[in-house]
Amino acid sequence: MKPAPFAYLRPGSLADALAALAEAPNAKVLAGGQSLVPLLSMRLAAPGTLVDINGLPGLADVTVTDDGVRIGALARHADVLASADAARVQPLVALALANVAHPTIRNRGTTVGSLVHADAAAEMPVVLRLIGGSIEVESAARGRRTIPAEELFLGPLESSVEHDEIAVAAFFPALPAGAGVAFEEIARRHGDYALCGVAALVAGETVRAGYLSVGDVPTVVDLSGVPEEQWGDVALEQLDPADDIHATADYRAHLARILTARVVRAAYDDAKTRT
Ligand SMILES: Cc1cc2nc3c(=O)[nH]c(=O)nc-3n(C[C@H](O)[C@H](O)[C@H](O)COP(=O)(O)OP(=O)(O)OC[C@H]3O[C@@H](n4cnc5c(N)ncnc54)[C@H](O)[C@@H]3O)c2cc1C
Repeated sequence: MKPAPFAYLRPGSLADALAALAEAPNAKVLAGGQSLVPLLSMRLAAPGTLVDINGLPGLADVTVTDDGVRIGALARHADVLASADAARVQPLVALALANVAHPTIRNRGTTVGSLVHADAAAEMPVVLRLIGGSIEVESAARGRRTIPAEELFLGPLESSVEHDEIAVAAFFPALPAGAGVAFEEIARRHGDYALCGVAALVAGETVRAGYLSVGDVPTVVDLSGVPEEQWGDVALEQLDPADDIHATADYRAHLARILTARVVRAAYDDAKTRT
């Protein structure tokens, strides 16, 4: 199938891109195109205008400070994965990104685009949610605002980024001293979307696990104070795995239980290496 007809704009400044979005209510931002273009081709999306942001200056940086990792809207997954500083300051970013698709898709797809796309089967939304990150968005009408991860993911492929806003960057806070993280997912083939994935964060008394492909939105459960032998069962009480063409709800629940035990244990072990 071919996309429905659309107008194509490639502005050279953020102000022009925001003005184009403001003028065309059914416009869509085009970043890496790795999710949007397939949706266009299948006619699951039919925007009247595509506003290609790939020509905008100053949005491709990965900036690492002691506070965390700031990822510009045009930084590709591969750019982020290549940053040793990012992996040092917040190791969960690289652990999860290594599971995002295949190298060709990581070379083009953007990490910020993946967050705005808000796929519950994607790795980076659950990481942002687990560690309490945020994104910065800008519009012509309302200027810049920050959206914390807990307010970003509203439903299946639905984020709280408004149609006239461009997400300019995402911020992944640094791993606190002495904390540990781990990530693991099960996919039919390496690089496929996972049937179930778990990210874990252990920081002092706080124990949290985040789930991808288990529910409509990336979901985080609090396991603080829960004995190790109950991690999987307590997590499942707070999850609602569903059937789809890839796996039954029962199989997903099984994966979530097993991965929870394994990944939370790995996060504890990781914390020991950082003290
Ligand atoms: C075969 C295949 C396998 C894949 N496997 C995985 C996987 O395992 N895990 C995974 O996480 N992803 C996977 N992806 C998706 C990939 O990670 C995408 O790159 C990512 O989801 C979207 O990033 P993008 O830059 O390509 O965004 P686009 O496709 O350009 O855009 C996606 C959506 O986000 C919006 N958007 C993008 N950037 C912005 C912005 N800065 N401001 C406002 N709106 C914006 C667009 O309007 C659109 O609605 C896969 C893709 C393919 C084709």
